[in-house]
Amino acid sequence: MSITDTLSVTLDVLPPAGTEQVPLQLNFIDGHWSASESGATFPKANPADLSDHIGDFADSTAADADEAIEAAKRAQPAWDALGTIKRGEILYRAAELLTERIETVADAVSREQGKTRAEARGEVKRAVDIIRLTAGEGRRLHGSTLPADEDRSLAITWRKPIGVVGLITPWNFPLAIPAWKIAPALLSGCTAVMKPSPLAPLSSALLVQVFTDAGVPAGVLNLVQGDFAPGSRLSESPDVKGISFTGSLGVGLAIQKATAPRLARTQLELGGKNALIVLEDADLDSAAAAIVAGAFGQAGQRCSATSRVVVQASVRESLVLRVLDRIAQLRIGDPRAEGTTLGPVVNEDRLNACLTAVNQAVADGAVLRAGGRRATGGGLAEGWYMQPTVLTEVAWDSELAQEEVFGPVLSVVDAEDFDDAMRIANSVKYGMSGTIFTNNRAHIFDALNRFEAGMLHVNRPGVGAWPHLPHMGAKLSQYGAPECSEQTFEFYTEWRSACIAFP
Ligand code: NAD
Repeated sequence: MSITDTLSVTLDVLPPAGTEQVPLQLNFIDGHWSASESGATFPKANPADLSDHIGDFADSTAADADEAIEAAKRAQPAWDALGTIKRGEILYRAAELLTERIETVADAVSREQGKTRAEARGEVKRAVDIIRLTAGEGRRLHGSTLPADEDRSLAITWRKPIGVVGLITPWNFPLAIPAWKIAPALLSGCTAVMKPSPLAPLSSALLVQVFTDAGVPAGVLNLVQGDFAPGSRLSESPDVKGISFTGSLGVGLAIQKATAPRLARTQLELGGKNALIVLEDADLDSAAAAIVAGAFGQAGQRCSATSRVVVQASVRESLVLRVLDRIAQLRIGDPRAEGTTLGPVVNEDRLNACLTAVNQAVADGAVLRAGGRRATGGGLAEGWYMQPTVLTEVAWDSELAQEEVFGPVLSVVDAEDFDDAMRIANSVKYGMSGTIFTNNRAHIFDALNRFEAGMLHVNRPGVGAWPHLPHMGAKLSQYGAPECSEQTFEFYTEWRSACIAFP
């Protein structure tokens, strides 16, 4: 059985047919590709063209998760013993291999998730940068030497891996988010069970193959496809010492409840409802460009997406006209075609969530200025396309202004002045990113101090933070150590101290 028998793709980076029982439904446990023990599968279609059936993937059970956890547990002592420098060398090789495979992997990301080819390439590049950065930590992951209270003594601290970790990821960055969890987990000496979203099962399989080809031994990195059943088993298993999760607030809270009784660690990266403030002294052209990039890039499906523009009312119309002008230039279409700038949303549920949010906002008194419907015709295949949508006069406390939509739907909220804009920006339960456009230096520094959000931007788009910066939110957007930077090792490692006498 070969990959091409079960997936309608040719992926020369996965093992060729005949080398072993190769990717049946893309679980990877103890160094072998396998199906679920139950034999159950779920189908996955291309959101840009529903006639393009990508494949049937393992609908894994709790027993599959247990098998993967067992494999990870067995592999952990030897992986820990290898040391950070050698583990870092393996990660360097993974970064090189992923660079070589960029076109194949970007195509898979685009095909299963719906982001444009350019966005998918950007995502692979970001994954490469993060793996490389993490590999370098192999020679930097240090502890400290401290003063001793006694004569002829020394005090030291160092890090130990926490053990087996569960990595549970969403569909919107199906390659970069798994990469920024797997790389620090492995570098630290943890072994891992990765559980990707059922809406993006292929990208993580390609990534696991990269790490395996780079030399990660059997059992160190395992992959279990599926949804709730393997995910909740990972959260509940006493052998899993920590869960790094990215996804919705509701699931994050369920994981927190499941892990709390045994004091397992969690790192939760959750939703967002991000504000971009525009004051009347701002450069409105660059603000409009940043708004369109932040709100409609990746069809608005980013935790840091610009979903609220909070604008000083005196310049609202001048700004909105500029935004509408730019939206008219977006090219909706097949995300894998060069030149497309707006792809579909990921599935029917997401499209319906966008349409419901728009209808509710209009009923609540908002004014629809662009879009608002499913996009069809004009050469589009049957897919989950949503028109880029702008609503103005959105009340700051309405549902649209308070709840995450996760699609190409932008609300514009009026503010009286800087203080009012900050109050509105901070009025939501989330705190992922915050952005301000102004030329007033005092307002810039006041905003940096007053935003209740993790990732802040000034006079630039509210998305696209750099790979070496910590990735985190505030309030209900985040719990636990930030990701991507050296801070992430606070999740994957625990500290030891020793007092050493040499009389
Ligand atoms: P989701 O919460 O529905 O699913 C995320 C993952 O959790 C999936 O792999 C899913 O199968 C798994 N899962 C579902 N139920 C589970 C359970 N009970 N126990 C364990 N695992 C379970 O999220 P999604 O729809 O895939 O992603 C969109 C959400 O992710 C949005 O809210 C978005 O803001 C958020 N997100 C946050 C960040 C960040 O860094 N803060 C980044 C990207 C996406």
